[in-house]
Amino acid sequence: MEQARPSAKPRSASAEMPNLIGVDREEMAAMLRGVGVPDRQVKMRVSQLWNWLYVRGVSDFDDMANVSKDLRSTLRAHFTIARPEIVEEQVSNDGTRKWLLRFPPRGAGRPVEVETVYIPEAGRGTLCVSSQVGCTLTCSFCHTGTQRLVRNLTAEEILSQLLLARDRLGDFPDRDVPQGSMVPSSDRKITNVVMMGMGEPLYNFEEVKKALLIASDGDGLSLSKRRITLSTSGVVPEIYRTGDEIGVMLAISLHAVRDDLRDILVPINKRYPLKELIEACRNYPGVSNARRITFEYVMLKDVNDSLQDARDLVKLLKGVPAKINLIPFNPWPGTNYQCSDWEQIEKFADFINQAGYASPIRTPRGRDILAACGQLKSESERMKKTDRMAFEAMMIAGHGED
Ligand code: SAH
Ligand code: SF4
Repeated sequence: MEQARPSAKPRSASAEMPNLIGVDREEMAAMLRGVGVPDRQVKMRVSQLWNWLYVRGVSDFDDMANVSKDLRSTLRAHFTIARPEIVEEQVSNDGTRKWLLRFPPRGAGRPVEVETVYIPEAGRGTLCVSSQVGCTLTCSFCHTGTQRLVRNLTAEEILSQLLLARDRLGDFPDRDVPQGSMVPSSDRKITNVVMMGMGEPLYNFEEVKKALLIASDGDGLSLSKRRITLSTSGVVPEIYRTGDEIGVMLAISLHAVRDDLRDILVPINKRYPLKELIEACRNYPGVSNARRITFEYVMLKDVNDSLQDARDLVKLLKGVPAKINLIPFNPWPGTNYQCSDWEQIEKFADFINQAGYASPIRTPRGRDILAACGQLKSESERMKKTDRMAFEAMMIAGHGED
């Protein structure tokens, strides 16, 4: 594991100034009009700025070569495009990277910190983005669930995680690429985005929607909607809206196939039980065998990992275009759950495989830097050093295979 304080820290975002990142074109146009950009120029300025912000990834008005000095200084006087502060950057033995980012206060609040994780794999790289600081939900096996909700992230803060990760990975094209040129999507480091960091994205629907529509805008960051996956614990009404209004891929944190158990593991089930959830998935706008829904299933020893559970899982998903993702439970200090034995996970996976679902086990990544699913937490509740040492000992004892 490497730990670094990045030397070239970008000027961090100021609390008071409106940020041009995360607003849509109409809002940006209104902001420009508001600082005196003449009406006839507004449209052209918006597309220039859009290109600088999202194709070239600049975070300083001075880098906008085709914008006049006067306009640059007007923009600088009223707006910011700065990145959040990087509090910590960690690189795992397996190449996974984790950033702890600090965002300025909103209104009377305090600065907040969130984690963003990059997972490189053969032929692709996935960025795991947070939508909230903490979570209002209290899934009993999730570390984030033990932390109260501090606040929703804004669209700017959600997008900034992607922009900053692209900065740090050298994933923006050279600054001297002529304006209007295409960004090659083939050698990008970040090819996929998953809303699987901290928080429940569908409890922050409007900001998540805004951020994802900008991330998939063809004249900007250009991520295909098929390469963006939103994971939810099952906020049924917003599932329909996700398909209709955002159009990204969907993942459901299922984790149990019976309501009595799911009520405990994923308590939002009491509000939206399995029948309603599966119905929403069946009717997810755009779902098809080519665009399947991913069902995440965390493997908890002696809780949800029996072959009967596997059988019921296959039965439950009958007729839904589905992928199944078995996630070995990632322990955290204080949890009472244990990860299922490897043999049991394999037996469970074999059953699922035989039912026609391909390679369903998700390999844990970045465990040495606590970057795996469900382990993210913000600085405000970080582990004390003694806890961390005890935890590391537990990981080494229980998960030698990593
Ligand atoms: N709130 C959203 C997205 C964030 S969690 C959701 O619940 O879907 C991303 C995934 O990690 C979810 O499937 C979640 O259930 C799973 N997860 C949470 N804690 C975990 C843990 N300790 N080990 C393994 N997976 C976990
Ligand atoms: Fe929140 Fe998702 Fe964790 Fe549940 S699993 S507590 S919804 S972050």
